[in-house]
Amino acid sequence: MATITKNCTDLFIDGRWHTPQFGVEDVINPATEAAIGSAPLGGPQDCEAAINAARRAFDSGAWSELARSQRVATLRKLFDKLLACREEVLELSVAEMGYTQAQAPFQFHMAMAHFEKYLEVALRDPITPLPMLITPQANGTHLLGSAIKVREPIGVVAAITPYNAGFLLGLVKSVPALAAGNTVVLKPSPYTPLQSLLLARHIAELDLPAGVFNLVTGGNEVGEMLGTDPRVDMVSFTGSDAIGRKVMAQAAPTLKKVHLELGGKSALIVRHDADLEIAMQAALFGFVFQAGQGCSMTTRMLVDNRIRGAFVEQLGDITRKLVVGDPAAATTDMGPLIRDVAVARSERFVEAALQDGATLVCGGQRPAHLQRGFFFEPTVFDNVSNDSMLAQQEVFGPIAAVVGFDSDAEAIALANASNYGLGGGIVSRDAGTAMQMALRVRTGMVMINNGPGDVHPDMPFGGFKQSGLGREWGEDGYYEFTELKSIGFNAG
Ligand code: NAD
Repeated sequence: MATITKNCTDLFIDGRWHTPQFGVEDVINPATEAAIGSAPLGGPQDCEAAINAARRAFDSGAWSELARSQRVATLRKLFDKLLACREEVLELSVAEMGYTQAQAPFQFHMAMAHFEKYLEVALRDPITPLPMLITPQANGTHLLGSAIKVREPIGVVAAITPYNAGFLLGLVKSVPALAAGNTVVLKPSPYTPLQSLLLARHIAELDLPAGVFNLVTGGNEVGEMLGTDPRVDMVSFTGSDAIGRKVMAQAAPTLKKVHLELGGKSALIVRHDADLEIAMQAALFGFVFQAGQGCSMTTRMLVDNRIRGAFVEQLGDITRKLVVGDPAAATTDMGPLIRDVAVARSERFVEAALQDGATLVCGGQRPAHLQRGFFFEPTVFDNVSNDSMLAQQEVFGPIAAVVGFDSDAEAIALANASNYGLGGGIVSRDAGTAMQMALRVRTGMVMINNGPGDVHPDMPFGGFKQSGLGREWGEDGYYEFTELKSIGFNAG
């Protein structure tokens, strides 16, 4: 077992560890409701110090003007350090977030795959020369000239993350932002700060100029300060669409760049010719993984009415056998929700679905055998109307909504009848039709027959419509943290 640092007292600001404004608070294990350790609780004074340090560090040019190979070499050391503490990250994600033993490696593996990709992109020449032009002048002479495009850092980046993937999301914002030459203030969720504090601990050991990376913790007021402060040039936010709207409004007076990765109600389309084994894998991943606490999970299952009976029967049978409980136990299939408020939210969705006439296939309540912890049974509803609350709103809990359809055209119309546009899936033995359908689904991502099977570090991640603005991951995610400048010149 790795030695995990679960008792942290200080914030990392301006190149040193710093006593937080509001002391320390317990970090709760959602499976046991017991404290697993403590974390510093930051406030506006800490946030002010962090923004100030990040601004000063950026304006000094000590990091932004460093050769990109030197920035990458420094971050490569961080990559190696993090790789060496894999077990610690896995244990923290089980204890702090409630990932099961089987799920925990996924976040780590994904984070490190994206890390490598960002370093590769960061080494590319930021200058693109454009073709020479010969332009006729009014006096009969000609001008010879051209231009270059240059990618430059944006400045001070505020990275605000949600509770459900602290290590991954802290990393996929901080690393590309730093690699591109920005300075960063990272603010994790108050529920899961330890994974970001681990990241900060390793960044603190690099010889970065003071103020290049800062970590502040805290709640809404700290997030709001980062969103409104004129010294911050960009807010990269991952969280709910409700807070995403606030972030956009907060950024408006200073017209700072806003990068939003928000929620979803993604549809899994199961065609009549689907391989049911693949469909079951996709369906279970869609609502059981992380107990449904994933943004692009396909919790809305659109199933061809010709096979819906068999699909629902199999899904119900498998779901009833899932072991819900302590995520630290190797035999557990599904862990807890983050807090009691999330369990209460799942209960409200069950009530609403029943009122809307959906059929409860299995689950629907707190598991009777678990007296402590924030658990909810994996739940399947059939006969769900696509207009209902369950089909339209994000639960962020383990509830699957099965909606029937009679044609591919109807399936696409139903999939697109959503304010969200984040993920999606199609299961079919007809690859050509599945691809045609994927092209018509209005979301940022669609996985055919479960996608490439592993993390694809070149795939951009992000949403259409109310699921966000901009992209994370891959080269597109890296370039979000850059400004594009054109320099034109006259060759004389
Ligand atoms: P949340 O929106 O409640 O909180 C996210 C972060 O915003 C937290 O750090 C919080 O402290 C901070 N915050 C709160 N008020 C703020 C304000 N006024 N200004 C700035 N920051 C503020 O989200 P959550 O409950 O922690 O996470 C779940 C949500 O995140 C779900 O909706 C999920 O879909 C979404 N999510 C999206 C993605 C994605 O990549 N699209 C990934 C993971 C989670």
